Amino acid sequence: MPTGSCWCGCGNPTTRRSFFLAIHDRKAESRLIRMRYGGIAGLRAAHGYTPSGKNLQKDFERWRQAAERVGALTTPATAAGG
Ligand SMILES: [Zn+2]
Repeated sequence: MPTGSCWCGCGNPTTRRSFFLAIHDRKAESRLIRMRYGGIAGLRAAHGYTPSGKNLQKDFERWRQAAERVGALTTPATAAGG
């Protein structure tokens, strides 16, 4: 649940319904990916998405279709976004 302060770590206040200030969700995402995986390619490879491995686009489409069937794409967590 949102706590009233930005979850990126900047310490600034947010509205009651937001986890992050505008674009701070992307900063947090980018920083975490860089620290843990070295970048997007490293993130993908860590999860098996390499040119000779799994196909992210196909897996995402399968996931999206399954999520739509069960209504998972309209949950409050997803709708709240960043
Ligand atoms: Zn922030």
